Amino acid sequence: MTRFVFVTGGVVSSLGKGIATAALGALLQARGYSVRLRKLDPYLNVDPGTMSPYQHGEVYVTDDGAETDLDLGHYERFTGVAASRADNATTGRIYSDVIARERRGDYLGATVQVIPHITDAIKETILRGTEGVDFALIEIGGTVGDIESLPFLEAIRQLGNELGPEGAMIIHLTLVPYIPSAGELKTKPTQHSVKELLNVGIQPHMVLCRCDRPIPAAERRKIALFCNVHPQAVIAALDAGTIYAVPLNYHAEGMDREVLRHFRLPADREPDLSRWEKIVAALHAPEGAVKIAVVGKYTNLLDSYKSLAEALVHGGIANRVRVDLDWVDSQVFEQPDAVAQLEGVHGILVPGGFGERGTEGKIAAVQFARERRVPFFGICFGMQMAVIEAARNLAGLGGASSTEFGPCEAPVVGLLTEWARGNEIERRAAGGNLGGTMRLGAYPAMLAEGSLVRNIYGGAERISERHRHRYEVNIRYRDALEEAGLRFSGISPDGVLPEIIEYPDHPWFVGVQYHPELKSKPFAPHPLFHGFVGAAVAQARLV
Ligand code: GLN
Repeated sequence: MTRFVFVTGGVVSSLGKGIATAALGALLQARGYSVRLRKLDPYLNVDPGTMSPYQHGEVYVTDDGAETDLDLGHYERFTGVAASRADNATTGRIYSDVIARERRGDYLGATVQVIPHITDAIKETILRGTEGVDFALIEIGGTVGDIESLPFLEAIRQLGNELGPEGAMIIHLTLVPYIPSAGELKTKPTQHSVKELLNVGIQPHMVLCRCDRPIPAAERRKIALFCNVHPQAVIAALDAGTIYAVPLNYHAEGMDREVLRHFRLPADREPDLSRWEKIVAALHAPEGAVKIAVVGKYTNLLDSYKSLAEALVHGGIANRVRVDLDWVDSQVFEQPDAVAQLEGVHGILVPGGFGERGTEGKIAAVQFARERRVPFFGICFGMQMAVIEAARNLAGLGGASSTEFGPCEAPVVGLLTEWARGNEIERRAAGGNLGGTMRLGAYPAMLAEGSLVRNIYGGAERISERHRHRYEVNIRYRDALEEAGLRFSGISPDGVLPEIIEYPDHPWFVGVQYHPELKSKPFAPHPLFHGFVGAAVAQARLV
């Protein structure tokens, strides 16, 4: 039997509902249960793929090619369970499905309404594909009290009734702020937030209280009393130095025990949390530090590079060092001699990106890394910039650029209009829809013998990584670029799409067309991040 845990949020947004859900998933796993984590988002976009990273942070891509909310990245990093298209749904997705059914005539003459048609579609989305897992954890995006979340809350209210307390549990995450002038933690916002939930017919079974200091017994009792939950079901979610300490902190607060108690499951044995203890110990006692410059575009909103930042932390864990990140807006390097600022960094990373602004600065950073023999890692757009740099400065193609920025003399990076997906051919036309039409999800690549990447991937000949791009390095320039010293060390199995480039005579210079950061886990750091941070450690010994 699958048990459902719904996680809602109140008072303010950004309290860390995604991490809370992911951490509970990790705790249940540590007790031997299987989990599946899902997120429902109340906005009207069909998926976050068309949203600016400034609006919504990173777009997380699953193996099956869905563009999803970044919380799915936390779910995967905490549980190792690969997410899929079915694990993220938005209001836009639900409505477009219901409207498509209406147009087909599936409702047989009925008036199509929010209740029951939208709510039924939400319930189907929650239940679909959860057979066989012990716990399905369902995070409801947004904050209670928003108009947008009402259909989702109504759907979980109904499901709560249908499944009963043995089948469903509601956890509500709120804020318990400390008011310095009063010298007190305040419980009123939590009380009001639970009232909002009660207004729509939902009584939470646990209140998870985000706070910056421990909650004294008197305040806990007060929350329990006014919110109508057991005092043991008032769990403090204290600010943590690292997100990977959250499962341990929740366990210390008794969260997993309380969840099992709710479902009348035995909780006499302790969970195996050694995985998390090891990660936290490594993060707390690094043997050194490296400084890595991330030269990108959306550097003032760190959520836009969430998985990247985490993968670099994982690379640090693998090498037992602290990784200090210096986020630089690439436009800075468009001023003469500004790249000199990169002097002394132990690694340079150019991440994924879109659009022309700041590209000359990225190219300047690539050139600096290549010429000064600083470890370099180019991801997706970063690889494309590295190829343009090589074409211009090594292969004598002064007019080299990407057609993403308009027509150019030497289009070393061009629009992908056709590619193989298994035995099928995917086709795109210039000027088509932008939503969900990139080359998305897991695709294989073949690694060249004797290359650095082959070694990094432990000798594997064929790998699979997640992609999200519309443009691609043009294979027709391969010979010219290889003659100039750039090696194409990873190619799609049909030999037409360059996936990886490297310089054999550089200490560590790798560009990849895919997003390795999406598959890195704290307990299984991605080999490329392990290798890149390792190269930065070697560089730190040199400078
Ligand atoms: N803008 C580039 C493309 O569409 C790179 C995309 C990315 O970095 N994710 O190919």
